[in-house]
Amino acid sequence: MEVRPLTDSYGGYRARLLEELRQHGISDIAVLRAFANTPRHRFVPEAFGRRAYENVALPIGNGQTISQPSTQGRYLEALELKGKERVLEVGTGSGYQAALLSHLVGQVVSLERLPMLAAQARRTLASIGADETVTVLVGDGSLGWAPLAPYDAILVAAAAPAIPAPLTRQLADDGGRLVIPLQRGEVQELYRVIKQGGELSEECLGEAQFVPLKGKHGFPTDST
Ligand code: SAM
Repeated sequence: MEVRPLTDSYGGYRARLLEELRQHGISDIAVLRAFANTPRHRFVPEAFGRRAYENVALPIGNGQTISQPSTQGRYLEALELKGKERVLEVGTGSGYQAALLSHLVGQVVSLERLPMLAAQARRTLASIGADETVTVLVGDGSLGWAPLAPYDAILVAAAAPAIPAPLTRQLADDGGRLVIPLQRGEVQELYRVIKQGGELSEECLGEAQFVPLKGKHGFPTDST
């Protein structure tokens, strides 16, 4: 199926980003269509607007970043989404990944520990109409969000020292997928965990580079 970009003045930049995503091995048509229909320039500070469609991480304030698009594409492919899932995202940041998810699943619950980022993400998501699918909550995402569990998929956008137990508890038991970067010493790697019949199976998807997950099942909140 053809991927048709949004019709605004950034269409050419988005088309180039799609090309770059393909070169990085992103081939899932639904994932590419989500990138084509999500205005990344709305999720970065105005000063970086011209760079919004480069395949790079960019600062979003509060010492945090919007992740590199090819990394986000890799995440979305690893979750193997079918279209109706309820997904928990840990680390809302700018809200861009949640906006991408809104094109791919039925419901997104996104947790951010920094209230200012959560407020800005809520405004941006509402401005593009993604707030019908995405709910942004403030809290320690290492604890997950039990009231809406179980989740068909959980995506963690910050590196944890180990897989937080509350997240695997809140994962659906019929093939629920958790994608999470783990920081072990100097090495950071992306893992996919699948839960089936009470059993967890883990697969390493390669190197990753994320800011730390801070919280009860993350790194101490006074660490960098
Ligand atoms: N997905 C985001 C986007 O598209 O802009 C990028 C996420 S950024 C790399 C990581 C985010 O995780 C930061 O906003 C950070 O504040 C948040 N974070 C770190 N620890 C957290 C925790 N325990 N709970 C919720 N959010 C956390």
